[in-house]
Amino acid sequence: MPLYTYVCKRCGEKRKVLMKIGERAPKCSVCKGEMEKQIPLIANIHGSQGTSCSSGSCSSCSGCST
Ligand SMILES: [Zn+2]
Repeated sequence: MPLYTYVCKRCGEKRKVLMKIGERAPKCSVCKGEMEKQIPLIANIHGSQGTSCSSGSCSSCSGCST
């Protein structure tokens, strides 16, 4: 089952949720606001690992070789 991170549109509260097919987005537990699925940002992962690849197609960094 995929694990998604949801972010509250109103207060920014984050929450990891195991999503079943057909299940709706959860409500925020802090403000009861609507939550939105957060798309993982590949570029941020590169940055946190200290790599500076910008081509996206090299085979020397962990982000591109997969
Ligand atoms: Zn909230």
